[in-house]
Amino acid sequence: MAQAAQLPIISHYTAYKPRPFTREERDTTTILYGGLTWKHERLMQGALHNLKYNAEPLPNIAREDLDAGKELIDVGACCPTIFTTGSLVNFLKKEVKEHGKDEVNRKFVYLTAGACGPCRFGQYHESYAMALDGLGLRDFRLFLLAQDELDQGPGNGGGLDINMPMSLGLIWSILCGDLVTDLEYLTRPYEVNPGQTELVLRECVEQMYDVFLHRPDHGKKLRTLAWHLLSNYFTSALRDVRKKWDQIEVDHLRVKAKVKITGEFWLQTHEGEGNYNIKRWLEQEDSEVVPPPVAVWLHYLLHPTIRKLEHRNSASKHPKAETLALHALERVYRGTYNRFRKALANLPHELPDQEELRRLAEPFYHFELRGGEGHMLIGKALHSYHHKTAHMICELSPYSCMPNTMSIGSMANVIGKYPDLLYAPIEVKGDAEVHALSRCQMILTEAKKRAQAEFEGVMEKTGLSVERIRKYEAKHPELRKATYFVPHRGCAGTAANYVMHLAYDRGLARA
Ligand code: SF4
Repeated sequence: MAQAAQLPIISHYTAYKPRPFTREERDTTTILYGGLTWKHERLMQGALHNLKYNAEPLPNIAREDLDAGKELIDVGACCPTIFTTGSLVNFLKKEVKEHGKDEVNRKFVYLTAGACGPCRFGQYHESYAMALDGLGLRDFRLFLLAQDELDQGPGNGGGLDINMPMSLGLIWSILCGDLVTDLEYLTRPYEVNPGQTELVLRECVEQMYDVFLHRPDHGKKLRTLAWHLLSNYFTSALRDVRKKWDQIEVDHLRVKAKVKITGEFWLQTHEGEGNYNIKRWLEQEDSEVVPPPVAVWLHYLLHPTIRKLEHRNSASKHPKAETLALHALERVYRGTYNRFRKALANLPHELPDQEELRRLAEPFYHFELRGGEGHMLIGKALHSYHHKTAHMICELSPYSCMPNTMSIGSMANVIGKYPDLLYAPIEVKGDAEVHALSRCQMILTEAKKRAQAEFEGVMEKTGLSVERIRKYEAKHPELRKATYFVPHRGCAGTAANYVMHLAYDRGLARA
């Protein structure tokens, strides 16, 4: 009898599935995380330490992370995926070298945000899994934190309990991280004593770390939600930050080009080599940077659900009740952010109205085109243009990012309609710094000219002189404090708004 032909052995693809992380392992295991600024990450660490987790942010992204990521993940991945994967890879390589694979698999887990949708953010974990395969660390555990559920419960072994205290602690630490970052960028370009902002900032972040570390326990459900929303625990801590900020002396008469940063979520938030340190570079080039708060992104995430309900595309049995609940949630969210801003003398910027962003972007980019920041890139640029909150927009676009490529295409249409909108789309690949910065500089030169012309225009209009303002400041030292609120008086630049404010709100033009 003829022998049956041997069938080839097929090895099917199996998706990465982490080993359980048990409750008993919690004390000996460190949760790794990253992707935001050092300020956000330190405050998040406070929130996690408060819940008795060992938690460590990964070191800030470095240029070598790009190479490490490129070696191990798919060709054509977007640059944030490459950088963040490379950062985890380099950290693990170092640990493996020192302690061996088994110890690394035992000692660490990685926690990252998860999502689904058309951009690669929904597949970051696949890239991480691919890199772990490449490193021979298939047993290393990584877990996803869904962005749309506050109470996901103890999953996969119970070592990680993603419950209300954890989610609220992380969200509140992100909001506070945003607010101190905003203060930092509003102040540093005007500081009289170089380095003072940085020193006070570090002190404030440590103080806020302690605040998160000692956050009182109010149970795991609604009582903790109510406490986070109603307590003055965080606002009084932010008032202490404000007192510390008072020590910084500033000179608001310095004429700076105001540059609003927009772009892909990770790239615009990051501070470091992942985006060529562009925010620091812009400050060195005599600009004031308007950084993008993570809070805007969290706010944006609420809206697709609201839209679905409004357009009856939702499977909900009670769409009206759910719409009302979501609108109430949105009001509470903005209200909380504003309460925190108030504790900081209203210095940090307000969150933009998501409805307005959608309306502004609508003729150019449909709000249902999801992925990346969606229509927000267009909406934010036009918001800043119409409200005169910056002289130029610097959009950080990752190499190989589909959603950003679409928004840059739509921006060509926007510029056709608003030719005086100064817009610098900067493609970031991680290894083409000179090209990117010189491109930004071309637009920045024009922005600086506008800032100077605007300042000269208000000096002429108000009839004030620098000498006169200096004399007035000498009599009113509060004007030189970093906590002095300079209201928006219709100009993009801080110096021009300051002069308008002195002239008309404080009556200096009539004196
Ligand atoms: S928005 Fe672009 S850069 Fe960001 S994860 Fe998605 S594809 Fe990558």
